[in-house]
Amino acid sequence: TQRFIWPMAQFGQIINMYQRARASSARMFGLMDEPSRVAETPDATDLEVREGRVEYDHVTFGYGGREGSDRSDREADGADDEVIVEDIDFTVSGGETLALVGPTGAGKSTVLKLLLRMYDVDQGAIRIDGQDIRKVTLESLRESIGYVSQDTFLFYGTVEENIKYGSFDADREDVIEAAKMAEAHEFIQNLPEGYDTEVGERGVKLSGGQRQRISIARAILKDPDILVLDEATSDVDTETEMLIQRSIDELAADRTTFAIAHRLSTIKDADQILVLEDGRIVERGQHEELLENGGLYSHLWGVQAGEIDELPQEFIERAQR
Ligand code: ADP
Repeated sequence: TQRFIWPMAQFGQIINMYQRARASSARMFGLMDEPSRVAETPDATDLEVREGRVEYDHVTFGYGGREGSDRSDREADGADDEVIVEDIDFTVSGGETLALVGPTGAGKSTVLKLLLRMYDVDQGAIRIDGQDIRKVTLESLRESIGYVSQDTFLFYGTVEENIKYGSFDADREDVIEAAKMAEAHEFIQNLPEGYDTEVGERGVKLSGGQRQRISIARAILKDPDILVLDEATSDVDTETEMLIQRSIDELAADRTTFAIAHRLSTIKDADQILVLEDGRIVERGQHEELLENGGLYSHLWGVQAGEIDELPQEFIERAQR
């Protein structure tokens, strides 16, 4: 249903400002390695995804003194009570694309971590096709969601094992096919031992663009009901970027997709765009509407499109708060 255009252009300093703390997303979704901090209820049933409708019902959350929280050491000074996302309320219909935009630190990643139940909401509820995600098995929940990013966790193992993660019954042929669709086959073949090359911490070091393509191949194999895309700050050439974009478009078509976008042209065609600032939704709508509103989105767009030189001071101040 959607076309994402991942542009090739470099971005101005303003966007860098917005990406300053982006390193924090490196720890985002350590999905596979992180021990789960949430508990499964004894009567949990498997999630049944029918349409893929996702509902955030007035969700509020703070990392608090949770185990694994960066802030747990600051418990004493009360920082643990900080609300990170507040009253997040939206519904995505099955097959639609919802984009989250906003300054770094606004809470975009946090909103999506809650969908994967890396943490539980403090208030409100998240439902997938009417099922509260706290009442389904974690395995079935995470099996239903595919995650694509450059920060994808690669464990120490072969390229093939990494692509197969989550689809253990796939064979070598399936893996190669997925890698071809993800524009990864060529670089993989050029690795010292091809698909048998060890990667991850102790193995061959892959670039961000290569990790991104492995995560796309993994998602293609997994064929999830719900897709989560964390836009890459790309370090691949223009042609590869276009090809990667094509496979992402295919992957996103006809399945519920969440996209965190830094480059707004990527999400121009999203069914819904939520603009987050300081943990709250400050604007929502489709691209054209948001442009007409004349708020944060339209100014960010103006900067990225080169129509205005820099973000008006009021927005910069708000972002730096
Ligand atoms: P965005 O994706 O919009 O850049 P994040 O959701 O990553 O925003 O971060 C929102 C806020 O939550 C930031 O202030 C960030 O420092 C904080 N944060 C993110 N992850 C953690 C964590 N594991 N523990 C404590 N605070 C966190």
